[in-house]
Amino acid sequence: MDKSSIIDQLAEAFRCLPGVGPKTAQRMVLHLLERDRDGGKRLADRLNKAMDQVGHCQSCRNLSEQDLCDICSNSARDDSLLCIVETPADLLAIEQSASYRGYYFVLMGNLSPIDGIGPAELGIERLLTRCQQGVKEVIIALGSTVEGEATSHYISEVAKPLGIELSRIAHGIPLGGELEFVDGGTLSHALQGRKRI
Ligand code: ZN
Repeated sequence: MDKSSIIDQLAEAFRCLPGVGPKTAQRMVLHLLERDRDGGKRLADRLNKAMDQVGHCQSCRNLSEQDLCDICSNSARDDSLLCIVETPADLLAIEQSASYRGYYFVLMGNLSPIDGIGPAELGIERLLTRCQQGVKEVIIALGSTVEGEATSHYISEVAKPLGIELSRIAHGIPLGGELEFVDGGTLSHALQGRKRI
């Protein structure tokens, strides 16, 4: 097979997907060509459409086809609460838990100087402006990775002067989890995030 054949180019293109190595990419390409050409055409069409038409919500930065996403344009939500998350997937996870009815701000990453991601890339200026639009409590819901911790700390420092209540989600023991199997870092977070009962 010629190195630069269309098949090879397509397999190479599939490798932009997370977790897809050369073997998997080849399997996907052969599957589409051998068994599902209609599916392949549909995939190409939807991909083109999504890449052209999906942008970012001007208020919360979440992925959106409109200037304002469905959540930001829903006036029935609690406008005193703003929850900061790292990614659209984190936002979806919280939405699916059905335990939160406020608005969001999506950073689209964490602070990571090595990767060139600083406050400007995370839209911190816009976040601070957003915080001053009737928000009473900012909930920082970032992961407990080193970058997540650093970003949480940074946001709490820059948001403090605004005089808004700041909170962080508790990180701790998974439901149904046994204490003895939980690692030390998680246990220490769980202890720090304890609530009076
Ligand atoms: Zn939005």
